[in-house]
Amino acid sequence: MKINAYKIFDHKPIEITVEDCCIHSIRDIESTDSEMWIAPALVDIQVNGFAGYDLNVSTVTASDVIEMVRSLWRVGTGFLCPTIVTASFEDISNSITAIVEACQSDSATANAILGIHLEGPYISAEDGPRGAHPLQHVRKPNLDEFCRFQEIAEGTIRIVTLAPEKTGALPFIEKLVADDIVVSIGHTEASPDQIRDAISAGAKLSTHLGNGAHSRIQRHPNYIWEQLGADELWASLIVDGYHLPPSVVKSMIRAKTLERCILISDATALARMPSGQYKFAGQAVKLTADRKIHLLGTEYLAGSAIELAIGIENAVRIAGISLSEAISLATLQPLKLLGVDIDQSKIGDDFILFEWNSDKNKMDLKMTVMNGQVEFNNI
Ligand SMILES: [Zn+2]
Repeated sequence: MKINAYKIFDHKPIEITVEDCCIHSIRDIESTDSEMWIAPALVDIQVNGFAGYDLNVSTVTASDVIEMVRSLWRVGTGFLCPTIVTASFEDISNSITAIVEACQSDSATANAILGIHLEGPYISAEDGPRGAHPLQHVRKPNLDEFCRFQEIAEGTIRIVTLAPEKTGALPFIEKLVADDIVVSIGHTEASPDQIRDAISAGAKLSTHLGNGAHSRIQRHPNYIWEQLGADELWASLIVDGYHLPPSVVKSMIRAKTLERCILISDATALARMPSGQYKFAGQAVKLTADRKIHLLGTEYLAGSAIELAIGIENAVRIAGISLSEAISLATLQPLKLLGVDIDQSKIGDDFILFEWNSDKNKMDLKMTVMNGQVEFNNI
């Protein structure tokens, strides 16, 4: 089978030859009337679960991780940082073990997992900043405990989200940064000075900036402005249409610039599930047809139910950026944050093919290729 498409970043046409579900060749061509785009496989640095698979339950297994990764391929997310949230030492260790075993038993999963994102448990205990993380397991940074997690993870923890105001946070940040771990500020109620100190210690990212915060806050100064205005910090944003109002998404992308923004799904296990009522993280929640999860009988959000591709669609729709710019926030930028620089003019072994409806800002995924293998085909 031969497929023509335009490369998303330079709009140059190419021809792809597929044989037996493998990519046989890719070559530049003069022109094509194809409506297909080709882009790198999407990169999501914050995924808690997907399609019914939950990384944050004590029963999670390696096969859950493997199946979750394949479910993500079917929606265009090729690479991910599986994200483990605040829990007991045993439960965090269990989740890490499931991920490590998944990578050991399945090389394709190992290829797709860029590293573990540990979100918590060293975060604020305050209602609001703590978000949905369980209060009884929130604690102050503990290097011994973290080293045990990292040992179980075989050195694969790559991002740690923490609150820099916690006792002992600054030397903890310095140690992690020295080990080449991306330290991210999140679920915090830090003062502006504490934010600055965290930056001096090497913190590089703000996790889902604008979320995991008090519902009411001093207008300024506060921890959102301080992070927004800090050129040293990148920001990850949940652009599911619910976690941040459109004007906030647009303002944050403009303040941070395209160079320091990353789209994330922050997806939970309910993403890609049929709408209805569920028991999730010990609470009764409702998942609506338009992918909003809220605590039953309230308007409080209880996690995200999108895949990254929908974040791209929303970013184009509300932030005044182009499709290729939005895609860079979900491919080139997260890779760059993790220290992987890719040549955007080249098509690698991992890519997606899709059509773009510019009237509706909708991405119609046609194919996902990982490591030269067709993993999803809807052509
Ligand atoms: Zn969070």
